[in-house]
Amino acid sequence: MGIRDTLYQIDGQGYGTYRQIRGIHRLDEFQLSVDKVQVDPYAPASLMRVILPSGVVDLPNELIDDPAGRVATSDFLTRRFAQAIRKGSSVSIGTPGQQVLQRSSVVIGQNTVEARIAVDLPAAGRRIRGRQAAQILTEELPHIVANSLKFQHLNAQALADHVSLYRDQEYLRGVLAANRLVGFVGDGSILPRRSGDSDTPLADEAVPFFAPETLRVSFQLPSGRTVTGMGIHEGVTVIVGGGYHGKSTLLGALSRGVYPHISGDGREWVITRADAVNIRAEDGRAVTGVDISPYISGLPSGADTTSFSTTNASGSTSQAANLVEALEAGATALLIDEDTSATNFMIRDDRMKQLVAAEKEPIKPFIDRVRPLLTERGVSTVLVAGGSGAFFEVADHVIALDEYVPVDVTSRAHDIAGKHPVADNSRRLASVFSHEAPQRIPLTHGMGAQGKKKPATARGRSVIQFGRERVELSAVAQLIDPAQTAAIAFAMDRIAEQLDGQVSLVEAITALLAKVENEGLEVLSPHHGHPGHLALPRRQEIHSAINRYRHLQLSS
Ligand code: ADP
Ligand code: MG
Repeated sequence: MGIRDTLYQIDGQGYGTYRQIRGIHRLDEFQLSVDKVQVDPYAPASLMRVILPSGVVDLPNELIDDPAGRVATSDFLTRRFAQAIRKGSSVSIGTPGQQVLQRSSVVIGQNTVEARIAVDLPAAGRRIRGRQAAQILTEELPHIVANSLKFQHLNAQALADHVSLYRDQEYLRGVLAANRLVGFVGDGSILPRRSGDSDTPLADEAVPFFAPETLRVSFQLPSGRTVTGMGIHEGVTVIVGGGYHGKSTLLGALSRGVYPHISGDGREWVITRADAVNIRAEDGRAVTGVDISPYISGLPSGADTTSFSTTNASGSTSQAANLVEALEAGATALLIDEDTSATNFMIRDDRMKQLVAAEKEPIKPFIDRVRPLLTERGVSTVLVAGGSGAFFEVADHVIALDEYVPVDVTSRAHDIAGKHPVADNSRRLASVFSHEAPQRIPLTHGMGAQGKKKPATARGRSVIQFGRERVELSAVAQLIDPAQTAAIAFAMDRIAEQLDGQVSLVEAITALLAKVENEGLEVLSPHHGHPGHLALPRRQEIHSAINRYRHLQLSS
């Protein structure tokens, strides 16, 4: 019996009877796999997969013959699928935002293309509306599928452009390091967003970004296109300017620049090194066994800062921990905004030095560490500092924003400071990183949450429920999509299973991400069939989530 007949037959019965449609059904051009049926009308929607033979989808090979092409093509198909769903429909798909990420929503396999959808099965009270369900699954759904997943019905040029843009962006990101750049901001970019809670571009009033001549670089890309823009060089770059002149907007765009953006976003050509991490203060967070001693030592509590743990970090200790953890996760570039920094972590002025003796001050301010980070660790910093000229003397480049227009003021800033960073600066060039920060190794049950039976789950973008523990991620600036958070939640479970008291946190994450690269995002999910709405997070954000888990236990 076909699914349509089954649905007609169970019309009017108790909602639980929907269970009968679990399994695989043949519809005209595709198979519908009903993987999880909601138990009642108010439960999360039922999870299903639309499975099409590759021949029916008929994508041109040149679009999908490399991983980048497949990511971009899947993203395109997902967006078209979402657009083909009419308003108020009970069908949904994990919908992408302004960034292009590897997602579980549409997967292009060897022989099939799969769309992973959710369907709210209709009810009248607690009774099945079988006829309506049949209409949704056997009429509406095939219509959506035909219009969005079959190449013949797609705008071929738009798809080719989408793939080509993504390939160009990833190419540029890939060559930044060889060009000794940490970031690139293309000429004509629109950096400001419509509002504080929107990720879409500010429309009419936005002043487009154009590079100062002295910092302009250009790249020829695989598509043949050439882009020009501001190169942010390895070293220390300080962004200055009056309040409200666009400093944080530039830094924010660079933070998001670790991800590729869709055409029309305005940040298509804001490209940042893949490992760059935004570092901020985050008082109240938990810290477990982090060596913050290069930045903070001799706390009045007597706490050991070579393996610092706290359930309630201060502004400065949290910022130090965020920094050290970012380096542990492999960051080669740090992005820091004064707006979200602890002042005492960043600088200490001469008057304060006179008043409070150095040996009473546990904090070695970042201004004394930013050059050793570069010279001893190869880590570059991009720093917004509108409030203090102290950073002039440690900066390789100083960029002023003047009514949103970037100006290279490096030589003036150096003149004012009376110093050049590579000249007399012995105090700041002294070796401060005497030892490599140790790799943290969790205990076998180091992430075994008490009373944890269910898989970890995401609650929106910024919270993971891990057993009884809420892992708070609102300060993790480069976690951008709830589907990434969902993937991180599952990743935490997979990593918890791998721990054996030998493997380090970073090794465990590396091994898991290698598996994802080979086998897909599905390897993260505990569910068969539909894996949930997942998007690929960076290793840095997986690391961030585990770092914020309050019961992480390390082998000492
Ligand atoms: P700052 O950090 O220098 O104080 P912000 O980056 O917070 O400044 O920007 C202040 C305001 O200006 C924000 O509302 C932002 O959206 C807007 N803005 C930033 N850059 C531009 C731009 N290029 N064109 C127009 N408005 C902008
Ligand atoms: Mg600001």
